[in-house]
Parts: sequence; structure tokens; C-alpha cells
Amino acid sequence: MKLKNTSILRVAIPVILNQLFDYSIPDSYAIKNIKLGVRILVTFRGQEKVGILVETVLTSNLKTEKLKPILNVLDLEPLFKTKDRQLLHWLCRYYHYPIGYIFCNTLPTLLKKGETAVLKKEAYYTLTTIGENINLVSLSHAPKQQFFLQKLQTSKSISESELKSVDKGWTQVKIALLKKNWLTQEEHYFSPTQNSNALKEAELSLNPAQQQAVTSLKNALGKFSVFLLEGITGSGKTEVYMQLIAKVLQKNQQILLLLPEITLTPQLENRFRQRFNAPIVIYHSKLTDNQRLQSWLAIQQGEASILLGTRSALFTPFKNLGLIILDEEHDDSFKQQDRLRFSARDVAIMRAKISHIPILLGSATPSLESLANVEKKRFQRLSLPQRAGNACPPKIAVLDIRNKRMHQGLSAVLLQQIEDTLSQKQQVLIFLNRRGFAPRLMCHGCGWVACCAHCDANLVIHQQPPQLRCHHCQHQYLLITQCPACQKNDLNALGLGTERVEQFLNQRYPDKTIIRLDAESTQKKGALEHYLAQINQGDADIILGTQMLAKGHHFPNVTLAVLLDIDSRLYSLDFRAPEKLAQLITQVAGRSGRGLQQGKVLIQTRQPQHPLLITLINQGYSAFAQQALTERKMALLPPYSYQALFRVEVFKEQLAEDFFEQFMPIIEQHNQHSILVLGPVDAPMRKREKRYRFQLLFQSDNRAHLQIFLSQLLPHINRLKPAKKIQWSLDVDPIDLY
Ligand code: ADP
Ligand code: ZN
Ligand code: ZN
Repeated sequence: MKLKNTSILRVAIPVILNQLFDYSIPDSYAIKNIKLGVRILVTFRGQEKVGILVETVLTSNLKTEKLKPILNVLDLEPLFKTKDRQLLHWLCRYYHYPIGYIFCNTLPTLLKKGETAVLKKEAYYTLTTIGENINLVSLSHAPKQQFFLQKLQTSKSISESELKSVDKGWTQVKIALLKKNWLTQEEHYFSPTQNSNALKEAELSLNPAQQQAVTSLKNALGKFSVFLLEGITGSGKTEVYMQLIAKVLQKNQQILLLLPEITLTPQLENRFRQRFNAPIVIYHSKLTDNQRLQSWLAIQQGEASILLGTRSALFTPFKNLGLIILDEEHDDSFKQQDRLRFSARDVAIMRAKISHIPILLGSATPSLESLANVEKKRFQRLSLPQRAGNACPPKIAVLDIRNKRMHQGLSAVLLQQIEDTLSQKQQVLIFLNRRGFAPRLMCHGCGWVACCAHCDANLVIHQQPPQLRCHHCQHQYLLITQCPACQKNDLNALGLGTERVEQFLNQRYPDKTIIRLDAESTQKKGALEHYLAQINQGDADIILGTQMLAKGHHFPNVTLAVLLDIDSRLYSLDFRAPEKLAQLITQVAGRSGRGLQQGKVLIQTRQPQHPLLITLINQGYSAFAQQALTERKMALLPPYSYQALFRVEVFKEQLAEDFFEQFMPIIEQHNQHSILVLGPVDAPMRKREKRYRFQLLFQSDNRAHLQIFLSQLLPHINRLKPAKKIQWSLDVDPIDLY
């Protein structure tokens, strides 16, 4: 592309308007080869903004004299190459989200702010032959030199930051050692020992199912295809991932591996570092701005080979991407629930398609969406039906608690089972998906229930510290003892929360170690890692917690897993509730019996005959999923239809009414493909954080029709006067209608 000074630059700027903005190249500007995909500094409505150059054109709708010149070009080389830009354009079209936000907000913060895009090198120290052969005893007069020399003699090459973190004296010692010619110093991006595709440890020999998975993918490298690896927990999916990664590294290509949760990254990172010599970088929201920038640049410039991260890592440009792996593909955390409401799974598939590479989706409990895609032959299914190594699958049973006396939510039979397990020095895992002490504070005298003033929601009782808390707006209230409605002192805590069960277990088993894992107990930095390490060292008897327990953590000594209080989910109105519950039960069950002992799983319920439980226990997740898919097909629900949810939030209800009065006729006008329009209705939680919430659901059995409809409809919104007083958003492929 040759740019002339008469060319017009079309720039994506992070503003709410879904369009590009035209700028001219100043006459004084000598740069003749500005490349697409670089950052450009411009003024927009009086403010300086960093944008991305997306297109160049020869004519603009604006008159030439109205075109403003750009202020500066911030990069010599593009940050986004053609394929990256193609993906971002697709996101903009598919999710109907402003193009400027998509191009600019997917950048690491520092690049967004205009920082120069340089990957920093670090000094690495290696001993010379003389240094290697120095007898340490001869240095007893200089203990610091002796200490560092010993460290360097046992390890090939060490970075400045690592040596400094061991002992600040390094700065002095370094000068002495360099002077004596015992040491060399070189600048590198990553440790020079970490630069080969050779493996550090031997690969396991695969069982036939694993072998087949690896072979299928190996044969698919270099072209687009989607594989669904359905492997029960403990079946050795990670080993499959690692052997595939080794194959891709041999081709000098890079790998993107996405995980649903930040807390799962250290575990996998450690396993990868034991196996691979290649540079690995991490990308997620808990890193510092600078760490994120360095990871991003290392991948973009091809210096690092493996990127491990959460959904925000998905937009990192790669120099030479060869494979995408998305682990726990069924996990809801892959869907972003605010701003750009994208599904990392779906975008990753599109990315693989644009890049002409395969993508591997792994799960013990695949989503119904992915299973339907297998049915439609869009995805190829690979399965690992058995646990690898010696472990066998756990036995699942229901515990009928109808008419049973309960001890803080636990039945006598359950307590007996817990005690049997503990007496054999094995660990018990108790799952309860409700944090706090109890979900409800109610007056026995008049029936008053404590509710949030800003949301349509009960307040949850917490004991640590004692207070009432809204889980939707985080507002805190005093824990009162007198009913504000009838003044009686007869307020009761109803229902079960993790704090309450913890308190009971501590009283009942005073000599046992009980660890509670939930949002509160793991709030402090490093707390979760600390607890996980404690559990793995066997220094825990009972592990109690919320859905954190259902994620991919390893608890090798757990032989009994218990699920409490799942009944409300059996009757939820959300059509996805059965799928989510079946995944949850299967995932929690998968935590049990991963070591040598067979595991057991108990589900406490007052619905022991519920078909979902019966199918799941007698026939397993796949059979459940088949039935659930049939039901969805008959009801024409996703994945057999496509939805988009339009949400409106207002401080005064009238504002929403005014808006919909003008919006509904426009919808009717544009609805040429009989899109099903449901609403507007109150959202299931009508009021949240002081705002009233309404929603409108669009549904069609044809994805293209729905997309055309949306793209014709949405530009009208900003032209409606009442639209200025509301907040609206669009959620394409919503995963909850909440
Ligand atoms: P998943 O990711 O499917 O839950 P993992 O990959 O963590 O399962 O494997 C579970 C255990 O089985 C690990 O300890 C792993 O080392 C072991 N394992 C995996 N594959 C094999 C194999 N082919 N032979 C022996 N052990 C294996
Ligand atoms: Zn009362
Ligand atoms: Zn609230």
C-alpha cells in the first residue's frame, strides 16, 4: 500500500459512536508509509485520543477543509495485522458493538494510553568456563560471592531480577565477578535456556483414546477445524494438550491456551514449565499493566511461544499462531457479561477459522451448544471415556432427606458418612453454592423479610463481620435484632450459607481442620493459593465451599464429595438451569476419588425421583445431555434457535415507557423475517442498584436473519429522543436472561 499525502486515514477511536473517523495527513508529515493497524494520535471533540488506523480512502464525506490532520503516528509496525483486524471487524458486526471500543479497548492499558510498544530485554548471567571451575571452598573469605557462585554453578543462566530478589548484595557481587572474568552478561527477552523446542521431561505413553485424540489433531494442523474433546475428569486431557503443544512447537508455531479462571493458571503454568523449554507467558486481569504489556508484546513479536490466559487474552495478536486450546469450554466465565458481551469460545472459533488452524475445546461436561455442533457435524468429537492412571470413576448416590431430622442442613446419614471418611484419614468436600451465613432474615411474628433498598433482592446474613449484605449491589446494612415492622424481637436466620455450615462443622468436629473456600474467604491476594496448597499437603479434613470447588482444581485425597441444597435449581425457570446443574454435579463429583481410593458422591435432596438426577446418576452426563438437547429442539430453544437480549436500565420507569413507545413501531417495521419479539417485560430482577430494568428478547431459528434484523434496527436507536435518557445494551447469544 502506497499512501499519498492526499489519502484520508480512517481511524477507530474509543468512543460510543459505531463508526470510523476521517483524518488527513498533515503536509509537514514526512511519513510516507504509514501502515494499517498502527496507533494514531488524534484530537476528537477537543480531546487527544489514541486510535487505530483501520482503512485509508481517497474521498471522505467531509469536505477537505473540514478534515482535521492527525497529530502523530505512534508505531512504525502494525500492532494488528490483517487477520487480527479481520477478527475485530467480525466482533464489531456480530456483537453490534462500537468499532472504536473493540479496536482500542482490547489493547493492554499502557498501549491504550500511548506508551511505546517495546518489549524489554533483561540481563542474564552465565558463568564462564573459569567461573564454572572455581572451587567454592577457596571463596570462604567472601561469603556473598561464594553464595552466588554456587547458585550460578547449579543453574545455567539466571536473570538480574531473580538474583536481586534472592539477595540485594547481588549488585556488588556482580561487579566483582564480571571483573574477574568468571561471569558473562547478556541481554535477552527470556532466559537463554528457555529457547528450544526440546522437552524437559519425558512424555507419558498415551492410552489408545488419548493417542487417537493427539493423532486426529496432529493431522489437522495447518487448516481450520473444531474438535470437542470430551474427557471425564482425570481422563488425561492435560496430557493430550501438552503432547499437541509439543507438535506445534516443533513447527515453530505458537499456542494460545484459554482457561475460564485466573486461579487455574498457576497450576497449569507449573505443569507446562516442567515439560517445555519454550518461553511461556501469562495474560489475565490480575497482572500489573506492565506485565500485561510485556506478555502481549512477547506474543505479538513472536518471542514467546505459549500464551496462557483467561478470556481477555483472546485478542492478543500472534506472530504465527498454530493452535488454540480452550479448556473447560462449558464454563460460563468464558462469556463476558458487561460492555462487549462476547463468548470467548465462539470468538476463539472464529479466530481459528480466520487463521486457518485447528481449535480444541476440552470439557468433562460439554455445553449443549457444542454437542449440537457435533450433531451438525461442524465439530468433531473425540472422547476419553476412562480415567487415566489407576483411578476409577466415583459412585454417585442421592440421599433422600424428606422427613429427616436435619442438623444445620446436614442429615444424620450424611454426618455418619462424613465421620466414616474422616476416620479413614481421607478428605471430605462439601459443596454449597451460597456464601454468607444464611440467605434470609425473617420475622417470626409478622413475616417481614429484610430486603435491599436498592434492589429487588433479599439481604444475606453474614457473621464475619456481622452484617446484612446485598449480593447484587454490595450495599451493607446493620444486622438488626428487632423487627422494623412489628417491633418484636423475633428475627430468624432462614436457610443455609457456607459460614453457617462452617460454624456447625467446627463445633461438631473441634479437632478437625475445616477450610472454607468462597468469595469472602479468598478475597485477600494469595489466600486461595494458600488454601489450595494446604489442602494438597493433606492439612485439611473438610473442604467446604461454593462453585470454586467445581472448577478444575486437584484435591487428590478427597474421597467423599457432598452436594447440599440443590433442590431450588431443579425447578428454576431458566431453561439453562438443568444443563448448568448437571454440569455442576458432574464437576463436583469429578473432584472425588482422583487418587488411589475410589470416590463417593452424595446429593442431599427432597426430590430423589427427579428425572434429571435419575438420568445423571444411572446413565451419566452424555445421556442427560442427549435428553436435554431433544427437549431444546422440541421447544425451539438455543442451540436450535438464536437469541439476542436487549436490556434497558433507567432511574425512572416512565423513561423506559417513553422509549419503548417509540422503539416498538420501528421494530415492527424492520421485522421482515418473522423474528420472535418477546417483551418488553420487567427483567427477572426488576430493580438493581437503584435502576429499573426491562428487557426485550429477539429470537429466530435463522442466525443470519436475526443478524440482519439487528443491524438494521440498532442505528435507529440513537435517533430516538427518549434514547438519550436511558441506558441500553445488546447481548447476542445471552447465556442468562437475568
Ligand atoms: P484431566 O485434565 O482430564 O482432568 P489430567 O490430565 O489432570 O486429567 O490427568 C489426570 C492424572 O492422570 C494426572 O495425574 C496425569 O498425570 C495422569 N495421566 C494422564 N495421562 C496418563 C497416561 N497416559 N498414563 C498414565 N497417567 C496419565
Ligand atoms: Zn415482625
Ligand atoms: Zn442491593
